[in-house]
Amino acid sequence: MKPGKVYLVGAGPGDPELITLKAVRALGEADVVLVDALVNRDILVHAREARIVDVGKRGRCSSTYRSTPQRFIEKLMVRLARAGNVVVRLKGGDPFVFGRGGEEMLALREAGISCEVVSGITAGIGAPASIGIPVTHRGLSRGVTFVAAHGGPPLEWAALAASRTTLVFYMGLARLDEIAAQLMAAGLGASTPAAVIEQGTLAAGREIVTSLERIAQEVAAARIAAPALIVVGEVVSLADAAKPVARRELAHAA
Ligand code: SAH
Repeated sequence: MKPGKVYLVGAGPGDPELITLKAVRALGEADVVLVDALVNRDILVHAREARIVDVGKRGRCSSTYRSTPQRFIEKLMVRLARAGNVVVRLKGGDPFVFGRGGEEMLALREAGISCEVVSGITAGIGAPASIGIPVTHRGLSRGVTFVAAHGGPPLEWAALAASRTTLVFYMGLARLDEIAAQLMAAGLGASTPAAVIEQGTLAAGREIVTSLERIAQEVAAARIAAPALIVVGEVVSLADAAKPVARRELAHAA
């Protein structure tokens, strides 16, 4: 029997054209595709004959709930690959950026299953770019810090504020109030440009571009929902000004 293998594939941030040629090739080879919740289903046209299995996890707030499906997914991948299948594990953005791709790679390695990682465009780069925010920019920001706002030990607010890098928070919408307050308490000015991008790179996406001081209130007023990213730093001032204002007016009218 031909040995199976697993591709850990990044599906990009949402726009189905923001996927790599390698990802398209892996999908074309796949016998089974295990799809995460945040993946744009339009990408599955590349999977042709493959069996599509939805393994999207919801309720990201409960670690007990979360850990069981994670192990289940790892076991499922091992079982499918051992049966000779080419498996694509399709994840939103990049598989190694807050996607638990590392854990899955280690589980596969331990089981002796061949595993290939196919990078994708992470939401933290693709979503800001889609509204004209470069995460680094000469003279404005010499670095970018990706932060998981949720899970893990408490965040080092002073270090984040002092880094003077662009800060991109994933999974942070529910804690936006606290994030803005903590960053200001740690020394970032109230007028520091800040944005929240909802469903970045997608037609349905919206964004709020404002200051750190106003962001929580404006996002609540517009009823911005997950998935959303928080971007803080001077580079946010480069956002395409026309779009956010128009959308904000729409949101207020609704
Ligand atoms: N591996 C993914 C991130 C998974 S964590 C990546 O590299 O992009 C899930 C978080 O990603 C969400 O809570 C949200 O903060 C962010 N996210 C994913 N897709 C997004 C999108 N299209 N627009 C805004 N945020 C997004």
